[in-house]
Amino acid sequence: MERQTYDLVIIGGGPAGLTSGIYAQRAGLKTLLLEKEIPGGQVNEAPSIENYPGFIEISGMELANKMKEHAASLDLPIENEAVQEIIDNGSLKLIRTTGEDISSKAIIIATGAKPRRLRIKGEEEFLGRGVSYCATCDGPLFRGKVVAAVGGGDRAIKEALYLSNIVRKVYIIHRRAEFRAEKVNVERLSKRENVEYVLDSVVEEIKGEGLVNSLVVKNVKEGTISELPVNGAFVFVGIIPRNDFVDAEKDSHGFLVTGADLETSIKGIFAVGDCRSKNLRQVATAVGEGAQAVASVEEYLHN
Ligand code: NAP
Repeated sequence: MERQTYDLVIIGGGPAGLTSGIYAQRAGLKTLLLEKEIPGGQVNEAPSIENYPGFIEISGMELANKMKEHAASLDLPIENEAVQEIIDNGSLKLIRTTGEDISSKAIIIATGAKPRRLRIKGEEEFLGRGVSYCATCDGPLFRGKVVAAVGGGDRAIKEALYLSNIVRKVYIIHRRAEFRAEKVNVERLSKRENVEYVLDSVVEEIKGEGLVNSLVVKNVKEGTISELPVNGAFVFVGIIPRNDFVDAEKDSHGFLVTGADLETSIKGIFAVGDCRSKNLRQVATAVGEGAQAVASVEEYLHN
């Protein structure tokens, strides 16, 4: 079944998508935002954000709520649908969702990314029983216990900082000795007394009985294997874009390739935020792209 045609459908309701929604409503475009989970996206899971101008420190959830309120104040229509496929019929695009099909002249893809898995033995088995991808969500369950945070990027270090406030001990397990995370946070973490570094090391298996009770860790420099007793394993080893439903050009890691105007290789389909190929993924960059994409959509519709 098909319904009315929109000027713009925004897929994804994180900072990039909500910003596009705010700009599109103000521009008077007939707009719909589709979000399959809760609006706010990954930022909801950030324990604290300290580099979004205007807020010296704010939790991801609070910032996301402010953005949602802003979009709601402009009556941005938001529907809870998962997109399955986009069919490009030239000037009109058909969006197949889990509900009705939707037609739109232009589309902005703002679907973000999901956590990459380690793909090791025990990871699936102990998901929700000691294995987690979100410290804000699950950290409080490990109060007074021992956990590991795996990874060396921004996410691993920030989430380890959060965890170290709650748990008895945090092991940082990283495959190299250098961290790619922001220096300010690496330094902060190095001052925490309940953090121990397990460097040049990879986790080979997550073990337990009902709940996680240890990790099998291999030192990649020395080739030695040891078993580390932990109650939880928090995995922060990067992200995978959520954009399977669109057939536009992607880079070697699956992120959507765009021009400076944020148009993908398909005319009238734009991409913003973490699902796009780029080298800096921040809330500040996501909102900038959300604004730019609407200007590009207006130009596209005008032409
Ligand atoms: P990331 O920056 O891609 O870092 C992933 C980390 O996991 C790297 O240290 C990587 O090691 C390690 N890794 C990757 N695959 C691994 C494997 N199979 N086994 C063990 N380790 C593995 O990812 P992220 O930290 O999830 O962040 C995602 C994006 O969000 C980044 O662009 C980040 O800057 C952004 N972000 C920003 C903030 C902020 O506050 N500004 C907060 C969170 C996220 P190597 O270093 O050896 O490659």
